[in-house]
Amino acid sequence: MAGEAAPPEEFLADGEIVDAAPASEPPTPVDPSAPPRPTPAASGGGLVPEQLTPTQQRLLDELGTTDRPSFDPDLGPTLRAQLESSLATAADAHAAWLEHRRGGDDHDGDGRPDPLFVSKHRISQIHACEQRYLAEAEDTFAWTVPIARGVVAHKAIELSITWRGTPTPLDLVEGAIARLESDPYARVGDFLATLDEPTRAELLAAANDRVAAFLDGFPPLRRAWRPVTESRVRADLCDDRIVLSGKVDLSLGFARGNQAGRVLLDMKTGGPQPAHIDDLRFYALLETLKNGTPPRMLVNYYLDAGQARSEQVTEDMLWATAQRTVDAVGKIVELTTDQREATFRPSHACKWCAKREDCRVGQQFLAELESA
Ligand code: SF4
Repeated sequence: MAGEAAPPEEFLADGEIVDAAPASEPPTPVDPSAPPRPTPAASGGGLVPEQLTPTQQRLLDELGTTDRPSFDPDLGPTLRAQLESSLATAADAHAAWLEHRRGGDDHDGDGRPDPLFVSKHRISQIHACEQRYLAEAEDTFAWTVPIARGVVAHKAIELSITWRGTPTPLDLVEGAIARLESDPYARVGDFLATLDEPTRAELLAAANDRVAAFLDGFPPLRRAWRPVTESRVRADLCDDRIVLSGKVDLSLGFARGNQAGRVLLDMKTGGPQPAHIDDLRFYALLETLKNGTPPRMLVNYYLDAGQARSEQVTEDMLWATAQRTVDAVGKIVELTTDQREATFRPSHACKWCAKREDCRVGQQFLAELESA
């Protein structure tokens, strides 16, 4: 509101998402003749100067909790040591298989086997249907509009933090595409540069939808929260022979010593699925291995519904995730090195499986599903 002083910067955000609630004051008696008091959102009062929608305010309240747990400083090193020892057998088996396959021919000339890269997607797949995992592992990666949409949208959201004025989502998306096209290190750059006009328009529309949904539902990102989009995390384990890696859609805040402060956030279209929770827990594990202090909160933000599903990070969660990761790597190595046959595990996901035409187990499951 004109004439009102903005709250001091140190009240806004001390480098983190803050508790958005106005400072508590003793209740004042109501004077019926007094003009109505403006609400904090309308006046820019409290700690939040923007006019937030109820959805944005709810999310800010949820993410801005002041509950920041402290963790044992030995947790990160202990997790790493346990992972190294639990994965040693798998790392040896994978390296020996690679060595056997290349028959002593050292392609890289560095005398070292290629590492086994393990992502959240591979972990989810191997714990679901192993046959599907193998089928998809054989596919070579190719950029598509749905895949590029996420990269472009995240870049556009990153630009929104520092873009002057009031850009529209489409301004941000066009700016993001221009930046990515000219960035020699952006892997999506070549794909963007060769798009024909209809495909480019389709990508713009798809990314615009995603960015508009984010800007509508999420509180405006502030620099002081240290927002980072597509934040990369990885852990090189077992003499660099196993690499756990990932890319968080959005990271906010930071740890203070052993006190957790970072929020990891993934943006999702569609509805919630159990795998979404496991994905973020995997990132929390990598973040702990990287920084020593775990993040404090994991958030899946559902763009279509403007809803967040969040959970606090705990030590038990990190240990369970480490075990799930070890189990996944063990299965991946067993299948990769032909130690056993891959199992079938039919589920609703059979509908989208590339093998469904040839898979008797999947077809039977889908037929039963339909008749039920
Ligand atoms: S159709 Fe179903 S059971 Fe068959 S491989 Fe695919 S996911 Fe597995």
